[in-house]
Parts: sequence; C-alpha cells; structure tokens
Amino acid sequence: MSKKNKNLQATMLAEMKNKTLFEKAKNHGFDYLDEAFDRNIFPTEKALKNLSHFEEPLQEEIGNGEQIIDQLNQYGAPAAIPYIGGRYFGFVNGSVVPTALAAKNISMYWDQNAAMNVMSPVAMKLEAVVQDWLVKLFGFPKETVAGFVSGTSMANLASLLAARYRLLKNQGWDVTEQGLFDAPKIRVVTGAEIHSSILKAISLVGFGKANIEWVDCDEQGTIIPEKIPALDNRTLLILQAGNVNSGAYDNFKKIVKKARAAGAWIHIDGAFGLWAGATQRLKHLTKGFEHAHSWAVDGHKTLNTPYDSGIILCQDEEALVSALHTNGSYLTLSKTERDGMLYTPEMSKRARIIELWATLKYLGKSGIDEMIYGMHENSKQFATALDQLEGFQVLNQIVFNQTVVCCETDEMTEAVMFKIQELRECWVGGSTWKGRKVIRISVCSWATTKKDIKRSVKSFKKALKLVKKERILN
Ligand SMILES: *Cc1c(COP(=O)(O)O)cnc(C)c1O
Repeated sequence: MSKKNKNLQATMLAEMKNKTLFEKAKNHGFDYLDEAFDRNIFPTEKALKNLSHFEEPLQEEIGNGEQIIDQLNQYGAPAAIPYIGGRYFGFVNGSVVPTALAAKNISMYWDQNAAMNVMSPVAMKLEAVVQDWLVKLFGFPKETVAGFVSGTSMANLASLLAARYRLLKNQGWDVTEQGLFDAPKIRVVTGAEIHSSILKAISLVGFGKANIEWVDCDEQGTIIPEKIPALDNRTLLILQAGNVNSGAYDNFKKIVKKARAAGAWIHIDGAFGLWAGATQRLKHLTKGFEHAHSWAVDGHKTLNTPYDSGIILCQDEEALVSALHTNGSYLTLSKTERDGMLYTPEMSKRARIIELWATLKYLGKSGIDEMIYGMHENSKQFATALDQLEGFQVLNQIVFNQTVVCCETDEMTEAVMFKIQELRECWVGGSTWKGRKVIRISVCSWATTKKDIKRSVKSFKKALKLVKKERILN
C-alpha cells in the first residue's frame, strides 16, 4: 500500500467510526422530509439550473466526505421530486411507508448482497417469509415462488423467460441448451392496450413484436374475451391487472381458466393493479387471476415501498429456475434454505426484501386494504370534482386509482397540462387515450389527503383559466 492509500484507509475507518458523515446525511434527510409534504411538487427553474453544479471533471485527489454530502443536499434535494408527499399524480409513482424507510435506513448499514443464503441469511429468511405471505395474500397456488427484482419490467421479463422455457419444453425443446435458432415457434397473444414494458420483454426474449397476435380491447381498455383467438400449448397469453391509463382489469374470470385448459401459459402484468387482489374491498377486480402461471407486480407503486422493488410470482418453479439457471463451481447453493438468485435474472443485488417485508409487516392485511381502498376513494373524489368543473371531462370509469381527463380539444388539454406542471401545486402527466390527448391522474400515495385533492383540483381550474386568458391576449 502506498502512503496515500494508507491515509485513505485510515480516513475511511475514522469516517465509519465517528459517524459525522451519517449524522449529516440524516439531518439533511430530515430537513427534506420536513418540507416534502408542502413544497413545490416539481423543482423550480433555479433548482434545475443549479444541477449544473454537478458537472465537474472527476478530480485527481481524494474528496471530502462532508462536503460531498453537503453538495448533494444543496443541489440535489431541491431538484428531487417529492412523490413521497400527497400531490404527485404523475406516471404511477408511489410514496413510501415510514417504517419501510426506517427499515431501509438500518439495512443500509448492513449493505447485504441478497443473492444466496450463504451471503445473507437474513435477506433469504425475509424473502422466504414474504414469499409465503404474498402467496397467501393473493390466494395463489401454494407452490408459487417469488423473485425479488428491481421492478415490473424485470418481473415481466423473468415471467416471459419462464413461459418461453415451459412452452418450448412442451414441444420437446430445451431452450437453455438449444437456444432459439430453429426452435419451434411460440405464439404470443395480447391486448392492444398492453403496457410498453411487455413489448420490451417480448423483444428481449426473442419472440419479436411483429409476431404478436393482437386482441381488440373495449372502451375501458380491457381485452374483449370473445376476440381471443383459439389457444394451444404453444401460446403465451399476456393479460393485465390495471391498465396504465384507465386502471381497468382484464376479465380473468372469463379468460384465464379456459386459456389454461387449452394449454396456454398465462402471464398477468399487474404492476400497480395486482394489489387490488390483496384487499378486501377491491379484490373483485382480480377474480380468477389465481389460475394464471405468472404475475408481475411492483412494491414501489401502489404498495408504497421505497424504489426499486418489483416481484415476479410464478407457480411453475421448475420453469422459472431453469430459465434463469446459473452455474459456477464456486456457487454454494443451500440445500435447505432459499437462494434468491434462482428466481431472478440478477445474481448480486441489494436486499430490497427488507423494505418490502417491513411494509407488509407494518400494514398487515387491514392496512393494505385501508391504504389501497383510500387511493381508490381519493381517485373517485378527484375525478368527480374534475368532471363537475366546466371545461374538463373524465373519460374512464374509476375502478381503481387511475383517471384520464381531457379538455375541449387536444391542444387545450396539452396546454392545460403544461400549465398545471408549471404551477407546481400538483404534478400530472399526459397520455393518449382512444385517439385523444389526455391528462392522466394516478393516486398512488398513502399521503394524499382530501385537502391535497381540493388543492390540486383548484390548480386544474386555475390552469384552464390562465390558458384561456393567454389565448385571448394573444
Ligand atoms: C409501471 C408499469 C410497468 C413497469 O414497471 P417498472 O416498475 O417501472 O419497471 C409495467 N406495467 C405496468 C402496467 C406499469 O404500470
């Protein structure tokens, strides 16, 4: 070791021991929390401009930890977006349950690698426990296994890999050994309203987007069961629990059992909507979903875990594990305990399970119902208030937590959306729905209050007024 390196080691050891760095980070974090529920929902122009302070060449010399944390706080915090609060309705972005945030905090010091039991017995124990909870909570077959991944995109991918394995195996083809060249053809059937992450997964696994057999959807964005072509044991059928625009659910009851009987593999993308199936008051939406083969769901959306938390659930363990197979002489898999990497595309990964476990343990069954039903009620309040406002029209049935709303013309809708964003009272994004430009509202935070909704509706009203006024002036 050079003298310089020795200094580095001594400095870092001291930093670990005296903890001023961590105290500083904590205090800055607390300051952020104090403001997050009431501040502007999108960074100010000044805050965005100040991000240029990060544009610096990587320096030659060793840095100063406290200065680095201060810099992050000074220029990072004001440019962070507080979906942790109650007025962020863009995309489908959840807040975070406080106990989960605290669990993340403590486990941050542990810095676990949740690949294998020998690497992290605590992470693997919690994965096993949560798998069991989830299977019971959703009422899935008891042989269902769970993999804890970064999000639904990865869960969709893992599901399609498992499906690919099984459907080809049905044809006497081992895709892990033989690959895809010359493999029997797999059919992919899905609805015209499927999420873009499914399209990505379809292309990643080599099925090809051009090979999709598209099924028409109704006005709420759900597959019309009668339009599904004849299925067989070479077919992957992809459904969704929660259309990203309307929140609508495919009719699992009518579709899934029949599709299974035909030999098809059924995957359900339930990134945010699957959680309805874990509630008392909304579980009618997912009726029949338990007969599918695989499901993808996020923790970080409706369940409000911290970010990068997705789950693949699969009732065909052999297919999932074979599809994600890894081998190496140095890998010491456990014979009795869980090795999480068997169920995920990744090997090394952070122990995101800790926050998921803490979230579920904190909420319990009644808390999950209360939180998620609360989002639904808030959505209805929001939609009703907007529908009553002159100049706005709600276009979908509010079955879950998503609302699509528009103004008189596409042009007006877009202008009003940008004006709402500019006002920074709440944040909503845009989408296209049935050929029209729309504003999409996703109520996905436990923290949203009736007052937040009133304040947000006011902002919609003000935005429309301002846009109209500007038009007259121009
Ligand atoms: C968000 C979403 C995804 C992708 O999930 P990530 O967690 O962002 O990877 C997939 N499907 C639907 C329906 C979604 O809403």
